[in-house]
Amino acid sequence: MLNFELNYPLSQITTLQIGGPARLFITVSTQQDLLEAMAYAKQNNMPYLIIGGGSNLLIADEGVNKLVIKNEIEGITKVVRFLKVKSGTKLQNLVDYSIANNLSGLQKLTGIPGSLGGAIFGNAGAYGQTISDYIREVICLNTLSLEAITLQKDECEFNYRDSCFKRNNLIILEVIFKLDIGKSKALRKEADEILEKRLIKYPKGIKCPGSFFKNLIVERLPKELFKKLPKEIIVYGKIPAGSLLEKVEANGDQLGDIEIAKYHANLFINKGSGKASQFYALAKKYHQKVKDRFGVTLEPEVQLINLPPLN
Ligand SMILES: Cc1cc2nc3c(=O)[nH]c(=O)nc-3n(C[C@H](O)[C@H](O)[C@H](O)COP(=O)(O)OP(=O)(O)OC[C@H]3O[C@@H](n4cnc5c(N)ncnc54)[C@H](O)[C@@H]3O)c2cc1C
Repeated sequence: MLNFELNYPLSQITTLQIGGPARLFITVSTQQDLLEAMAYAKQNNMPYLIIGGGSNLLIADEGVNKLVIKNEIEGITKVVRFLKVKSGTKLQNLVDYSIANNLSGLQKLTGIPGSLGGAIFGNAGAYGQTISDYIREVICLNTLSLEAITLQKDECEFNYRDSCFKRNNLIILEVIFKLDIGKSKALRKEADEILEKRLIKYPKGIKCPGSFFKNLIVERLPKELFKKLPKEIIVYGKIPAGSLLEKVEANGDQLGDIEIAKYHANLFINKGSGKASQFYALAKKYHQKVKDRFGVTLEPEVQLINLPPLN
């Protein structure tokens, strides 16, 4: 028997603590429950939204007229260097598990909140490592046929903060990794050093969805556009969106309880009872300023739910 909730306030399950009600909401902790919830959505012709940790979402104050499914299907199985991991597993638990088992390849992802499914969807990464680096296969649910299919890594179209899952109707169920052999103590040290740096940008308890805009990949920029951009801000082949936002003086600007961090212009923080409408208006303002000054259209990294595109 599925335990649906009506008009569930999504602000309770996003790291930003913003988001209106879901028409219908359910937390699933087994694949069977997920299948039953999807079958219900299909029978009732109801659109669905699958979410994990809610750490990369800006959800409209009006909420979502959908069945929102929160994925908490967790589990890790290990065979030598192979890990088979259920998509609702917390990314941090996977990172810690790999380190404890002398496996290298995920340790730099320490501190990224959310689930493995969300990380695969956006090809999450940090400090030169991405979740897709050591992937072999992704097992998904085809939401039209409700059958499982397996995608090989090269079919997942992984790219900078991108994957095919942003363009298809697959739900990520399980992921198979083949990791390198490492030494637990050294991996832990590497992860702890990263965590220390991360705490400066993301202090404990911060209400935000991570960086709001994607950085720009220099080699993908049209030559004419590149000419207009300041070259001194290029870092590892990327132009940080934060540096462009800084140049249009976004730092410290505030609308209601939403503030752009004084120390990082790509970080929008909810200082208390901020609204999605305020967040969106502030993001749109600086999206336009960057466009006017540099001719660049910044693309949000955060998923906008029930909100129009920024451009
Ligand atoms: C403090 C902080 C720091 C962060 N630092 C980083 C960082 O260093 N690097 C980085 O890349 N990101 C970072 N993020 C962003 C975020 O944590 C990652 O994008 C994370 O991987 C999202 O996972 P989630 O489970 O929370 O996804 P959610 O926010 O729940 O969902 C994000 C998207 O994924 C989709 N999705 C989720 N699960 C599934 C599934 N099983 N199948 C199909 N689609 C699914 C959802 O529909 C949604 O569109 C940070 C966020 C915060 C709050």
